[in-house]
Amino acid sequence: MSKDKKVMNELKSFIYTQLSKKYNKCLWPKSDCTKDCINAHSIQNSQILDKLASNNHVVMAVARLNLDTGPEEIEFKKVGRNKATTFTGLCKKHDSELFRPIDINEFDVSNQQQKFLFAYRSVLRELHTRIKKAIDSQNIYQEFVNKKQCDPKNMDKPMLDATMAIANAYDLYKYKQIYDNIYNSNSFTKIEHECIRIERNCPLAVSSLFDPIKSIIWLKIPEPKFIVLNVFPQKKDTIILLSYLGDHQKDLRPYADEIINASGEYQIYLLSKTILRYCENFVISPDHFNLFSQQKIDAIKNFYLATVTQIDIDHNDENLMLF
Ligand SMILES: [Zn+2]
Repeated sequence: MSKDKKVMNELKSFIYTQLSKKYNKCLWPKSDCTKDCINAHSIQNSQILDKLASNNHVVMAVARLNLDTGPEEIEFKKVGRNKATTFTGLCKKHDSELFRPIDINEFDVSNQQQKFLFAYRSVLRELHTRIKKAIDSQNIYQEFVNKKQCDPKNMDKPMLDATMAIANAYDLYKYKQIYDNIYNSNSFTKIEHECIRIERNCPLAVSSLFDPIKSIIWLKIPEPKFIVLNVFPQKKDTIILLSYLGDHQKDLRPYADEIINASGEYQIYLLSKTILRYCENFVISPDHFNLFSQQKIDAIKNFYLATVTQIDIDHNDENLMLF
């Protein structure tokens, strides 16, 4: 084996090992907690996943890194409900303490604390994902430097990717602190929510957030402004919950209005495209997914993948309807 090939194989092995490591840190807002974390559900287990799962599985977009064939591939796959959408960002005690009000009670649209907790859970999961990505990118970049495959004097793509991953994690860390303060002071009304109930069976659940402004005028915005999106079934209805900081309402409302002001089939079509464009943390009921044709699955997969690199890509295709 040539020396170069040996180095590349060592780097590949380093990357796979790094990516498989868990980032285990309880994000409890009241104090520093060093307890071991559990696989905390970002989408509520006993009420929401229970409605969607079939034989204890749900369908998710799963990314698969193949270092031999190049860019990331995704596949919609059945995932066990105790693995799906979980994150190691809370210990058992704090997960239960934080989210008991939405884990044991049915969703009540007039309850500010419940709506806050849905959004908070999405924020915690996203922060955990971004910190893990920052650590992975930084460690992998450092290993490329150690193996003399990157020169730290050059601002090359691996260096920029690692730096951006850290900046993204830091953005959300600051944003999470605002949520922490609201939680610690019970000032739940500082978050604005738009809640839409549609009388229609909900075949999916989402717990995610996105920054629609930054996606368009990238880097010109000093402070990220996120819309937190939760979609879930309740009895025979679909609940869409859009949440943002009251201070961000003026800027984010136009984006939320697109979905809020639409109606009928078009509303859930727009919602479907928003999910595919911005969200990775969503699950689909396998019974519903099994009804999708191969052509529809390919259209969904291609749109989902295209928007990873080109967030403003857009076209109309009825196959992108997830409901
Ligand atoms: Zn804890």
